[in-house]
Amino acid sequence: MNLFTKNLPLLVLHPTHRCNARCLHCYNWERVDNSERENELSLEEIKLISRKLPNIEMLLVSGGEPSLREDLNLIVKEFYLKNRLRILALTTNGVDSQGIIRLAEEIMKTCPGLLVYMLVSLDDLGGRHDRIRNLNGCFEKAAETITGLKRISSSNPRLKVSILTTYSKYNEANIWDIHKFVASELGLYHQINLIKANPRMPEAKEVDLAKFCVISEKIEDSNFQLLMGNKLTYINILSFSLDYYTRKFIINAITDKTTFNFCKAGTKILTVISNGRVYPCEFSRESFGNLRDVDYDMGKLLASASSQSLIAKIKNKQCLCTAECYVRRSLILDFKMRARIHMKTLFLFNQLLAKKILNKLLHYHV
Ligand code: SF4
Ligand code: SF4
Repeated sequence: MNLFTKNLPLLVLHPTHRCNARCLHCYNWERVDNSERENELSLEEIKLISRKLPNIEMLLVSGGEPSLREDLNLIVKEFYLKNRLRILALTTNGVDSQGIIRLAEEIMKTCPGLLVYMLVSLDDLGGRHDRIRNLNGCFEKAAETITGLKRISSSNPRLKVSILTTYSKYNEANIWDIHKFVASELGLYHQINLIKANPRMPEAKEVDLAKFCVISEKIEDSNFQLLMGNKLTYINILSFSLDYYTRKFIINAITDKTTFNFCKAGTKILTVISNGRVYPCEFSRESFGNLRDVDYDMGKLLASASSQSLIAKIKNKQCLCTAECYVRRSLILDFKMRARIHMKTLFLFNQLLAKKILNKLLHYHV
């Protein structure tokens, strides 16, 4: 039975759980601490999985530190060629600067039509970032990585670089300073994600949620100003509008305990971790099973009675979800929400265009 009619909108892949950092806020720390290279899906196994999947719109690669997979460029190339992958989003801690820059260069070369988003983590400035990441010199390395990626991006607009900060007890007081650095010094789009699940240090979750709501709105305004300075493209503004609605749903979950009813995890979004197990989302305790037990056939795995009952459970569960990437993708997959997101994008596009024209006219008259 083939459960995919046309395509798979989002595949989340953790190709490794090995990591060169030991962040205090890491919610995958148990997998990271117990990771074994031997147990990871090999490139050959990933090729078998890819062969039995339909076209994939977006691949989100996370982990672990994905760049520690020496064959990551080949994994991406496989999905690009066999599954007509259109968008890659890759999160990285930026520690292995040379390796990550080389990886980005290789992917840009071997996947000529792919839109690539590289999200580099910065959780604070200087030594404070190193302490959160539990690794000396981590900030300097991340800065080097960002410089290298920006260089590639300047000559190849298919590569988009942005900064990801995990909002936790450890950086709550400095978030605005971090944002000023990201916006003014780096000139990059800044995304802040609320700490979630069960972090390595449980105290990391002791944050003021009201403060998070206020600051995330302020950062959104600032990101909008950044759009003004950039080339006006529909895709950039669409991405901003999506972030806008994602933030709205997450804040509603935090403040009003509004459940998320649009979740597409388990049907249109699937998560495969390094040992071959498949989950609806990375925060789910329940798994669909292991691809290794079903000839690497995702359709077969999802068709089982237990998988179908897990999918039904997710539809009814309606979690208080703060999982940004799942909310973001689920919203654009919902027919009504998609219409609202496009309406907002058109409105913002016109607003920005009018502002740009006005600025030019004023400049001309002065
Ligand atoms: S948060 Fe990311 S970089 Fe930090 S330990 Fe976990 S997997 Fe590694
Ligand atoms: S609503 Fe969020 S936490 Fe719940 S299954 Fe979907 S993605 Fe996972």
